[in-house]
Amino acid sequence: MSDTRHTRLLIIGSGPAGYTAGIYGSRAMLEPILVQGIEPGGQLTTTTEVENWPGDTEVQGPDLMIRMEAHAKAMGTEIIGDIITDLDLSKRPFTAQGDSGITYTADAIILATGARARWLGLESEEKFKGFGVSACATCDGFFYRGQEIVVIGGGNTAVEEALFLTNFASKVTLIHRRDELRSEKILADRLMRNPKIEPLWFHELHEVLGDENPRGVTGVKVKHTKTGEISEIPCKGVFVAIGHAPANELVIDTLETHMGGYVKTKPDSTATSVPGVFAAGDLTDHQYRQAVTSAGMGCMAALEVERFLAGEE
Ligand code: FAD
Ligand code: NAP
Repeated sequence: MSDTRHTRLLIIGSGPAGYTAGIYGSRAMLEPILVQGIEPGGQLTTTTEVENWPGDTEVQGPDLMIRMEAHAKAMGTEIIGDIITDLDLSKRPFTAQGDSGITYTADAIILATGARARWLGLESEEKFKGFGVSACATCDGFFYRGQEIVVIGGGNTAVEEALFLTNFASKVTLIHRRDELRSEKILADRLMRNPKIEPLWFHELHEVLGDENPRGVTGVKVKHTKTGEISEIPCKGVFVAIGHAPANELVIDTLETHMGGYVKTKPDSTATSVPGVFAAGDLTDHQYRQAVTSAGMGCMAALEVERFLAGEE
């Protein structure tokens, strides 16, 4: 299908930043189009309980994102299941190429493409991805009933994944390169109290061990970060939870970035280095990376688009 759609505001991404931008953009009568991307609902669809979304003591991540989508739609955002594969920001209207064949042209754009899981970059990690190596406990935890699992990392994601995996696993070893967790204290306390979880401090993943036929993980080699000593841990699953990197591939050559690829915005603003292009959420945020801060930036971006377009009229 080959088709062109013009909109005053194109929102790229369907996490908390994108949907909030949709709500505010709709209420400003900009009739936004929002393209969802490969992960409709964004990162929160890969988790279970969210306990820090204001107004909900506890809400399931996927449920929260379904509600946000419905809210944006009810306000008037047109939500399209498509992936933007190419973006031309060199002239206005801006042009975005959809994987569906649709070409979107837009007077203003809000980038809300968020972040994606980082990997260690080991050859053996790559070899067993999808065959015992995963970056999503909620997606794959179910396959490890009664098995031993290792989780790599010491942030909120690693601790939450380790706790979640105790629903299935007989034992979870949390491998962290230091002896102090980066996660929130409430999560760290839960981890330390859980009898199924054993932290292994000052260790890094050295190699994933496994069989070829059928392909699957049998264990890991870990390296002591101080002594360099190598040891082995038997396990069937390896969950890598070492953080997230901004999903900046559409704009890495056209927009200013900083702090390892986060899109740079003007102080107290979501404006990027190209007038008419705004960025919100984890794509721009190396510091907080929370649902509520992403939603806040989505709001700011839509309000700034409204002012930007009004200023041109
Ligand atoms: P994301 O949620 O990352 O969404 C990005 C969107 O962009 C996706 O919809 C994707 O499909 C889309 N996209 C990307 N590329 C393209 C493209 N080329 N074309 C079209 N669309 C594209 N935060 C909390 O506050 N509380 C929590 O309890 C919490 N738990 C978490 C648990 C896990 C396991 C993880 C990974 C994160 C958690 N976070 C939590 C962090 C929170 O999920 C993020 O801060 C938040 O989702 C960022 O929102 P965002 O809108 O910037 O982007
Ligand atoms: P993160 O906070 O950046 O933590 C990454 C962890 O992985 C750190 O402990 C880090 O170790 C470790 N690490 C990084 N590179 C490594 C490597 N090469 N080898 C071994 N270990 C490595 O990432 P995150 O936990 O994914 O969290 C991302 C953001 O989402 C954060 O802002 C977080 O607050 C948010 N989030 C929030 C919640 C919640 O609110 N409940 C849940 C999940 C995520 P060091 O500590 O030594 O640096």
